[in-house]
Amino acid sequence: MRKKEEASSHLRRRSTRQRRVVLEVLRSTKSHPTADWIYEEVRKRVPNVSLGTVYRNLNLLRDMGEIMELNFGSTYSRFDGNPEPHYHFSCMNCGRVLDVNIPVCTELEEKVRREHGWEVRSHRVEFYGLCSECKAEQRKESQEEYVKTAGNKF
Ligand code: ZN
Ligand code: MN
Repeated sequence: MRKKEEASSHLRRRSTRQRRVVLEVLRSTKSHPTADWIYEEVRKRVPNVSLGTVYRNLNLLRDMGEIMELNFGSTYSRFDGNPEPHYHFSCMNCGRVLDVNIPVCTELEEKVRREHGWEVRSHRVEFYGLCSECKAEQRKESQEEYVKTAGNKF
């Protein structure tokens, strides 16, 4: 009996530690990673962890309100260590997901409520475009293109 209790408390400690590591990994990045990326990072600290365990902990932490799961209609979810409501920007070129530093627009919900009389509980807004790096990259490319074509004229 005592052995069994020891074993179960050992398992409980292990799963608490694994969950804590998953949370720490996610809180340590601003990159909104996928479960696979989180798994690789967790494995560096808990070598025998399984992908299933990481998924289970991500779901648990999400249900506890500690993290957010983001799905922007892509095939796989991304996770966010910041559970506070905020908007995101997806770069259409490199796929990076960035935090948007504007306050969440609750007036939008009020407008819909006034217009339709519905009970609006939340809303989702996603921004798409080119991140600063991709924008700079594109500008450089078009300049090079311009130099090339200009060069051809002379
Ligand atoms: Zn980009
Ligand atoms: Mn975020």
